[in-house]
Amino acid sequence: MQLSGKRALVTGSTGGIGLAIARALAAEGADVALNGFGSSEDIHRIEAELAGIRGARVEHFTADLATADAVTDLVRRVEGALGGVDILVNNAGIQHVAPIESFPTERWDAVLAVNLSAAFHAVRAAMPGMRARGWGRIINIASVHGLVASVHKAAYVAAKHGLIGLTKVIALETAREPITCNAICPGWVDTPLVRAQVDARARESGRNADAEADALISEKMPSGTFVTPEQLAALVIFLCGEAASQIRGVALPVDGAWTAQ
Ligand code: NAD
Repeated sequence: MQLSGKRALVTGSTGGIGLAIARALAAEGADVALNGFGSSEDIHRIEAELAGIRGARVEHFTADLATADAVTDLVRRVEGALGGVDILVNNAGIQHVAPIESFPTERWDAVLAVNLSAAFHAVRAAMPGMRARGWGRIINIASVHGLVASVHKAAYVAAKHGLIGLTKVIALETAREPITCNAICPGWVDTPLVRAQVDARARESGRNADAEADALISEKMPSGTFVTPEQLAALVIFLCGEAASQIRGVALPVDGAWTAQ
């Protein structure tokens, strides 16, 4: 158990990619702070499942990451409850798809707040503790849309490009310390975030959701298949290990050759 004794905070870990990351961290023996929306029934079920893997402490912390104070307060509460945040995975993210001229300004603000500003506020709050303890891993879940663009995703593409820039700055500021900061850039992953886009396309085209999912993948991903949350979680575990201690400030695509084109 590579991460026994470490404390991890994974934002947006009540579903999708974040839940797979939290599960993998618990399997490596880390105590895990969960965060994200969901029914109390679902959240209790997730807490019990993850705590049962290795007997590590797993606790959910409610916080809407759309405001700075809520993010800072989340980090403080996790530090108070678990004794620190050694591994910070900034994963929570939202999407909105619309042409630039009709992109709602409120959605722009929300996407920037959750996908970019929340990571800044979380790192800012967690960094003093990591420095005091002399170890840290910060992993930002960006996207291929942090490296390349697609139409109708102004806020998401801007936020994810910004998140990769933030990753590089943090890596430089910690370059001489045992604290690393990197970004992971997934292609399409079959989660509720992408299902909403598949369903919207199916409503417009009249085709079924499976046909739209295939179309979505074949437009962008030469591999022709979804990335799985578990593949991303395995990369997070690798980045937490000693072998990755000189991987600093990179944006790692896991994208079926999307950005190779
Ligand atoms: P998802 O919608 O399945 O899960 C998102 C999680 O974030 C949920 O737990 C949700 O409750 C939480 N969340 C959303 N808004 C929040 C808020 N304001 N405060 C607190 N929690 C909030 O999404 P996913 O597909 O698992 O995406 C996870 C991350 O991966 C996101 O940053 C996303 O941009 C990125 N990503 C996803 C894909 C993909 O194809 N699914 C591809 C590239 C990058």
